[in-house]
Amino acid sequence: ERRQLHRLRREPSRTLDGVDIRLYANAETREDVAEAHALGAAGVGLYRTEFLFLQRDELPSEEEQFVAYRDLVLGLTGRIATIRTLDVGADKADGSGLALPDEPNPALGVRGVRLALRQRGVFNTQLRAILRASGYGPLRILLPMVARREDLVATRRLLRQAAAKLRREGHAVADGIALGAMIEVPAAAIALPALIDLVDFISIGTNDLVQYLLAADRGNDALQELHSPLHPAVMQLLHQVLTTAQAHGRPAAVCGEMAGDPLFTPLLLALGLEEFSVHPGTLLEVRRELRAHDLSALRRRAPALLRARDRAGIERWLASVPSTVA
Ligand code: PEP
Ligand code: MG
Repeated sequence: ERRQLHRLRREPSRTLDGVDIRLYANAETREDVAEAHALGAAGVGLYRTEFLFLQRDELPSEEEQFVAYRDLVLGLTGRIATIRTLDVGADKADGSGLALPDEPNPALGVRGVRLALRQRGVFNTQLRAILRASGYGPLRILLPMVARREDLVATRRLLRQAAAKLRREGHAVADGIALGAMIEVPAAAIALPALIDLVDFISIGTNDLVQYLLAADRGNDALQELHSPLHPAVMQLLHQVLTTAQAHGRPAAVCGEMAGDPLFTPLLLALGLEEFSVHPGTLLEVRRELRAHDLSALRRRAPALLRARDRAGIERWLASVPSTVA
């Protein structure tokens, strides 16, 4: 079985009916990036930069960040790197050199792009480092915790200013770097048509989207069963988001843990997903699953999935899907 999986490293992520699905890796460390490359990932779909900021007392300098982002881009030899800007706060806060506010509800507090837009110096340093790395290979920028247009307007202005300044200083900065939004705050998912013109792509963060949609703390063991994508509201919202993105010609990925569980692969395909970003450890299993399904047949089953009224109904739908995986 391991050997069979291993053979899939060189096979395309293509459904039975011949549709190519983009399968990216979530990767932070040099080892993850090397593994993603060896497994034939389409690129890195989520590079969580907060690991550069956590468990230390002082902030990473522009130079330190530049080296990390440049090495990521170089390690991918031409495949795209999706660099997510700082998402410190809530469950990702230990020992950071940032002055984090003491908040009663950190998960609903100043985290992600909210923090970045308040600590402009920190954000600007990171944007400069990312823009400098763009001179070394293809990358795109992903913003966490986007809730509204204003987040995107403000970030786009900072990016424009940073790029102009870097060019004046003599740095090479790529033209037309794509800016994307994490869709993980329900408001951004529901009102996606109101902000989609400001993004070049989206990536759905199901870990947080499920947490906020179901009001169930992602880290609370007592709520593990409730914090599950197998809820009709999650099905409907994912379908709505993917349909909107497609109507506007914006690539849409899921980069939450849901995307890396092969159990959910047919469900995500049925709802319209064509890009997955998964931990390298499960990439081949997801590829095997993708290759076992007829996409158009799954899409025809989407209405039945959207009619499911509870977890058991969604599980029955999953059990009814034919698969060629042994
Ligand atoms: C998510 O929320 O699904 C996600 C991918 O981001 P993180 O887990 O880093 O919050
Ligand atoms: Mg998240």
